[in-house]
Amino acid sequence: MTDERRTIRLFDKEERNCYHCPRGHVAWFPIKDEFHCTRCTLNGEDVTRFDELTDSDTGETIARDDVELLTAFGPYREVSSMSLGGDGVYGTHSTPSEQDE
Ligand SMILES: [Zn+2]
Repeated sequence: MTDERRTIRLFDKEERNCYHCPRGHVAWFPIKDEFHCTRCTLNGEDVTRFDELTDSDTGETIARDDVELLTAFGPYREVSSMSLGGDGVYGTHSTPSEQDE
């Protein structure tokens, strides 16, 4: 029951390092709706995806939904739409039928 959302600047290494995966690694990165840990992958863990980060200071877990991820280019979600093949960075989602020849 918290309406407090965390903002994590992904390009700020120190800020990223304040959070870790369930196994204590800081090699996490966001994927759609979840996080992924490259360290877990290298270790051959069965589960390399997780949906909450652990705060290194408090041991508190923070769900993906409660985290606002910022990249150097803006909020993570908006940037991610680019990798999905859309032009969401510049356009809006409201006029999908409008096309420039
Ligand atoms: Zn890990």
